Amino acid sequence: MTSNHEATQAVHGGEERRKPYGALVTPVVQTSTYTFADTAEVLGFMARKAERTEVRDAGGDLDLRDEYGRYSNPTQRVVEQKVAALEGAEGAVLFGSGMAAITTTLLTLLSTGDHAIVVRDAYRRTTEFARDFLPRFGVETTLVSIDDWEGLAGAIRPNTRLIFGETPTNPYLRIMDLERVVALARPRDILTVVDCTFATPINLCPLALGVDLVVHSATKYLGGHNDLLAGVVAGDHRWITAVEMTRGLLGAVGGAQDAYLLSRGLKTLALRVRQQNESGMRVAQFLESHPKVARVHYPGLPSHPDHEIARRQMSGFGGVVSFEVAGDKEQTSRVVDRLQIPYIGPTLGGVESIVQQQALFVSLDPEERRASGVSDSLIRYALGIEDADDLIADLAQALGAA
Ligand code: PLP
Repeated sequence: MTSNHEATQAVHGGEERRKPYGALVTPVVQTSTYTFADTAEVLGFMARKAERTEVRDAGGDLDLRDEYGRYSNPTQRVVEQKVAALEGAEGAVLFGSGMAAITTTLLTLLSTGDHAIVVRDAYRRTTEFARDFLPRFGVETTLVSIDDWEGLAGAIRPNTRLIFGETPTNPYLRIMDLERVVALARPRDILTVVDCTFATPINLCPLALGVDLVVHSATKYLGGHNDLLAGVVAGDHRWITAVEMTRGLLGAVGGAQDAYLLSRGLKTLALRVRQQNESGMRVAQFLESHPKVARVHYPGLPSHPDHEIARRQMSGFGGVVSFEVAGDKEQTSRVVDRLQIPYIGPTLGGVESIVQQQALFVSLDPEERRASGVSDSLIRYALGIEDADDLIADLAQALGAA
């Protein structure tokens, strides 16, 4: 399958043309282990495995039959190859959750004595892992704000091994200038790893901009149906191979059923994301013109501080719109409660719209909420694929009564 068009890759990428039993759809290989016909087959497998280790040490890859479910699964491999095709990557590794992908990748690339820089605006659990967990293994980390270029350059030390970024961020949809990060990192042999969960490969191609590894919580847009947990990392064989080995060691794998659901969800990724981009822009423009809305955070709007970077770097601005209600915490809660289409919850990227008054999911303690930097009147609206006219009418009625 040679097309560079993402919609075609989303459907056919990573799929064998001829599948077992002539099935059209990727089969769910629901097995924990794989058997061998006889000792000769075992010996042949072991010889090929040794050969693979050599090829992998040189940064390449070599196909190998399956042995045990913690190392590989054919259904998962289809997803890995599909994501690799979408990202323009040599390979990808699938995990049981986005956090499993992030933590396993960081534990693979970092060793005692290394230093890592992590963008302060990244997903809360990612910064928590960097700040509180990695130091237990002798890895020092520095958190730097996404637009603090002086701080980023100043944080680099001789032992800085990687920079971990995220774009767009949650909930303010800040955009990291990836070319600028790469220009800083590459000449110093610093690896760049970026969480592009909010962008998806439809809106952003980080590897083409020189980023070494891209990670996703596939629980969100890649899966797209709020029915699975998964994570994925994609990049050159050199890194992917090492990450895959660590996955086999730490055991952060998901199941075959979830991989199947993910392969199915991925087929409509381009369609869904384009619809969400379109609705995102319309909803953001509607909210920006509404008198009961104090501020809208959407990278597609010229008022967003990173609009110019987003325009240059992305082909769509995504399906999450954050906005601040012109009112206090209670008035904001009332707007959320009056909305009739979206569900209230903590995730995003699926076909159902989901809202949250983000601060309430951080903490009930006002001090902790203030420290998190999330305004009490901020609503994060993660658009599904419902009709944009309906979503806007619903918002109009909920705000109208605010
Ligand atoms: N990265 C981002 C940007 C996220 O929003 C999340 C989850 O909310 C994660 C990573 C973690 O993914 P998961 O929940 O699949 O472990």
